[in-house]
Amino acid sequence: RETARPAAKPPAPQRRRVRLTHPDRLYWPEDGVTKEGLADYYAEVWRQIAPWITGRPLALLRCPNGIAGERFFQKHAWKGLGRHIVQVQDPRDPKGEPLIAIEDLDGLMGLVQSAALEIHPWGSTIADWERPDLITMDLDPGEAVEWPAVVAAARELRQRLQDHGLAGFVKTSGGKGLHVVAPLQPRAEWPAVKAFAKAMADAMAADDPDRYVSTISKAKRRGRILIDYLRNQRGATAVAAYSTRARPGAAVSAPLRWDELEGGIGPAWFTIRNMPARLATLAADPWDGFRAAAVPLEAPGARRGKAG
Ligand code: ATP
Ligand code: MN
Ligand code: MN
Repeated sequence: RETARPAAKPPAPQRRRVRLTHPDRLYWPEDGVTKEGLADYYAEVWRQIAPWITGRPLALLRCPNGIAGERFFQKHAWKGLGRHIVQVQDPRDPKGEPLIAIEDLDGLMGLVQSAALEIHPWGSTIADWERPDLITMDLDPGEAVEWPAVVAAARELRQRLQDHGLAGFVKTSGGKGLHVVAPLQPRAEWPAVKAFAKAMADAMAADDPDRYVSTISKAKRRGRILIDYLRNQRGATAVAAYSTRARPGAAVSAPLRWDELEGGIGPAWFTIRNMPARLATLAADPWDGFRAAAVPLEAPGARRGKAG
């Protein structure tokens, strides 16, 4: 059991409704984080993580024996699915295997019980499958890229989004990079959103080919940052804000204020262990105002704030 938790804080009562088998199983052995430790983490960040993982199709990275064991990336419902995990049918694939979603904290605890160590939602909701309500631009530094260059890329993306009337929010991936996420009012459908994200990545690569690439060709990547826009197509997923990562260090994908990037926060700085304390001391959620900042995607080619 973790000891970093303030003793005064009462345990989240609801999570008792989902029974954890083998609560002492080590999921992150080097970090001493058990299945119960994971459940405690998610109970503590529930308010913050809920908007990113409820009501959306989810892909899960499941590691029944922890991060050192066998792992599988699971997009479909399975036999013996916990009763708080919901099966949803993709309207475009009415005869296909059902997908997975959750609605509440019990559902999240069901994911913990199922050894889901990473939670990767779609960019659209099951209320509106075809129209994404966010864009995720994934910045993947190639070999020999220094961290300040990744930060600069995130800032540049933010500016480019702003030029199109969109707000950009930044989070660590919990792995090697940063994700810049823009809220959308769900109006444009997947093909238009993908085309927009591709155009933005291509423009960055064309304007600064020494620093950026927009195609996944390893040879070209050394010393460059891949502006990975492919999270923005139907059925693609990106790791959720506040999701844990199945990697040594027990890092989580952490929403940041833009000014925090100045402080040299690295991509795996925030973890299962320090995130609850961070949230307890922050005056406001670093992504406060995310949903309020949503606008519809502009028509292709149009630029906001300019005549015509
Ligand atoms: P990093 O900072 O290390 O790049 P990341 O979250 O951006 O972290 P990955 O974990 O490499 O990147 O995942 C890339 C994307 O591909 C994720 O958004 C995820 O949803 C998806 N993905 C991950 N694993 C698989 C898999 N086995 N099969 C299909 N898609 C996957
Ligand atoms: Mn990435
Ligand atoms: Mn990527």
